[in-house]
Amino acid sequence: MATTLKELFIDGLKDIYWAEKALVKTLPIMFDRASDVKLKTAIKDHLAQTKEQVVRLEKVFESMGLKAEGKKCLAIEGIINEGTEVMDSTAEGPVRDAGIIASGQKVEHYEIATYGTLAAFAKTLNERTALDLLLKTLGEEKKSDTLLSTIADTNLNSQAVDGKLQSKDLNAV
Ligand code: FE
Ligand code: FE
Ligand code: FE
Repeated sequence: MATTLKELFIDGLKDIYWAEKALVKTLPIMFDRASDVKLKTAIKDHLAQTKEQVVRLEKVFESMGLKAEGKKCLAIEGIINEGTEVMDSTAEGPVRDAGIIASGQKVEHYEIATYGTLAAFAKTLNERTALDLLLKTLGEEKKSDTLLSTIADTNLNSQAVDGKLQSKDLNAV
């Protein structure tokens, strides 16, 4: 049981470390099942970033003299399971893409909440290296969330209204 803020901080790091590693496995599945070129590119780019975020978390553990260790994040496990269910229950094309964006944004919002909290804990605990690293990832998660909103707003959601896939999006990427 965590009895200090530092212990709670370390528990949170283990949780998000497990979550990022789970996302490294899940993003390629979302990539394969998405159709829109911009969405596929966004997922691919965020996969590369997520791999860097795993390494960055290892540096956070290291900065505190700890070995990186994961602990199952029940929230991300649930969001991933729900996302799979959405992909399985939607027609391929703009409707499934809209569902993938919705799931992706649920992930990003969980990450934004988590990294924001961990950064605040790092600041209070005066863990300066950890703070810098966590803020860098927080910025990436926010950008990823904004990009997904833009992709949905600019064309995807309107295409999904009648489920029509524009020919330019077929067999893309
Ligand atoms: Fe992440
Ligand atoms: Fe969690
Ligand atoms: Fe993310």
